[in-house]
Amino acid sequence: MKEIDDEAVVLRTYKSGEADRVVVLWTKAHGKVRVLAKGVRKTTSRLGGTLEALAYVKVDLVKTRGEFYVVRHVAHVERLATLRSSYARISAGYGVVEAVDAIPSDGVADEAIFQLLTRVLLTLDDASFEPALVPASFYFRLLALDGSEVVVEECVNCGRGGPLVAFDASVGGALCDQCRHGTALSAVALALLRRVVGGELASVLRESDPPGAGEVTALAQEAIEAHFGKRLRAPGAVAPLGVRGKR
Ligand SMILES: [Zn+2]
Repeated sequence: MKEIDDEAVVLRTYKSGEADRVVVLWTKAHGKVRVLAKGVRKTTSRLGGTLEALAYVKVDLVKTRGEFYVVRHVAHVERLATLRSSYARISAGYGVVEAVDAIPSDGVADEAIFQLLTRVLLTLDDASFEPALVPASFYFRLLALDGSEVVVEECVNCGRGGPLVAFDASVGGALCDQCRHGTALSAVALALLRRVVGGELASVLRESDPPGAGEVTALAQEAIEAHFGKRLRAPGAVAPLGVRGKR
């Protein structure tokens, strides 16, 4: 019998059988873990509200046989009420957990990813930060954690300082006018990109609609998809199931 007593974030859930649900967690010390939540779709279930996507919880799990753990106890670490009150924040959160779910690492623990993930959820739960650029900044941080930090201060191909006019996720950064391939990069998007990956993220996230935000989001998504070799749904394209009062 294996036991896990740990903090975790719910990445996603999916139906199993008549009333059960499989809950995919990213735990602090045990990496990705799949849990069978029995009877969780019945309205009387006590687990239903705590084991929905984006929940930040403390779990006590046990595995006797088969591939799934079962829940002995679960409780919120943070309720994330501000995050859950906004479609834009939930949608940004879904963009984040979907990328974590794409990490090919069942059973491999990565506490750095857990710390980054929970920090992002708390950022999305803070009304003084705008959610729009949170997924993009998270993708760039995830790439950096994986040793694939994007190069935006100089041409990734020849090292020239500029002008940098293109971005190619397959080579990991921005390109000058002589090396250009990939996607065209505007000057405003380059400036914003440099602020996002260069340590000014907190101030960027306080701006309501910084110029170049759409371009930077698209480049970040391209970069994380190239890295994982897997397409993600665009942040904002996901219909949230967990909006309070709309079920
Ligand atoms: Zn170059």
